[in-house]
Amino acid sequence: MKIWLDGGLQDSESARVSVFDHGLTVGDGIFETVKTVDGRPFALTRHLDRLARSARGLGLPEPDLDEVRRACAAVIEANPMPLGRLRITFTGGHGPLGSDRGEHGPTLVVALGDTARRPDSTAVITVPWTRNERGALTGLKTTSYAENVVALARAREQGASEALFGNTAGRLCEGTGSNVFVVLDGEIHTPPVASGCLAGITRALAVKWTGATETDLPMDVLQRADEVFLTSTLRDVQAVRRVDERELPGAPGPVTAKAMRIFDEHAAADLDP
Ligand code: PLP
Repeated sequence: MKIWLDGGLQDSESARVSVFDHGLTVGDGIFETVKTVDGRPFALTRHLDRLARSARGLGLPEPDLDEVRRACAAVIEANPMPLGRLRITFTGGHGPLGSDRGEHGPTLVVALGDTARRPDSTAVITVPWTRNERGALTGLKTTSYAENVVALARAREQGASEALFGNTAGRLCEGTGSNVFVVLDGEIHTPPVASGCLAGITRALAVKWTGATETDLPMDVLQRADEVFLTSTLRDVQAVRRVDERELPGAPGPVTAKAMRIFDEHAAADLDP
């Protein structure tokens, strides 16, 4: 596997990053996961814009987006695969033990792994832990993902593929790696970015293409919504067939099935929407 590091392609087996890199020691980094279809990245411009926003939010140096684009193209070309997950990681670089930033930054790594199309429907759980809608990292795609790792492990233990968080105000927020939508009386709703969720790229496209409304939603909406679905780069639009103990038979329901169709049609027509 060829990856991008230190300005060029390297073999992933022999590539080296400092053990004092702050991405490793304190989670001082940001990332993007980009889907590739037959060697072409989907919505790359939106991902690069978000990478730059996350860097600004974290106070990292501005990433050189021309280099990131070149790195993505080179890694994709060097590792052909039908459906891939391109991972862009950008950290503060190596520095002292402790939380102060050092002089040696930043570190850019681009890698590609293969992936498979997700099933049309899935089970999710809710977790009792909250997203902080007013935190320093709220809305930034940082590498500080340990809370998501814990929540996802709990979901797996319960036969689910995603865990949903509320925020500190008790409102529905998002999943560990996805945004959430509900259908009420035929209308599609999703929590606003002010709920503390990531401004998902698939979420934004789904809102644009389906006319979904951004609405503050209580957690218990999951127990009464007619349909529930998730969006993310690797899931696209995915129906939810169980939330905790509640079964949603027949998922994807009609509104979700239509959203899936609309998304697939638009996405196939434009790889960089
Ligand atoms: N929320 C979180 C916490 C995520 O990590 C992700 C994606 O990884 C999403 C939402 C969905 O965002 P996107 O559609 O840009 O993949």
